[in-house]
Amino acid sequence: MIIALVTTENEGMKKSMLRSINCAALNEYSLPCGKLLVKSDSFCDEAGYYWCEEHKKRGWLMNYGVRHKYPAIHFGKFAIGDGKDADLWKIVVVMGSEEMINAAVASLGLTGDDEHGEVAS
Ligand SMILES: [Zn+2]
Repeated sequence: MIIALVTTENEGMKKSMLRSINCAALNEYSLPCGKLLVKSDSFCDEAGYYWCEEHKKRGWLMNYGVRHKYPAIHFGKFAIGDGKDADLWKIVVVMGSEEMINAAVASLGLTGDDEHGEVAS
């Protein structure tokens, strides 16, 4: 959709659109977060997803998955992954409810303090 827009705009607009990207988060109705982010100023996780300030915990969780090879984890009433399928992690991180994401981040002790969502030691 963005690509179609830039073809009719001027060069400056085109460059600014190419530097922008939408937050990857989907809400409980599978609707996108919709926040337009400037790539250079935004948090990108190690799987390549960009996250707005409100959804950055999802990036911390994705980084945990990437760094631990998408393990099977259980926390409270939730679980993610089977240790083999990266797509399971990606679906959960993009589409999981706020309750689930918050539970996962709390359970794993993720803080994002190193700007990449490293696990707290
Ligand atoms: Zn967002």
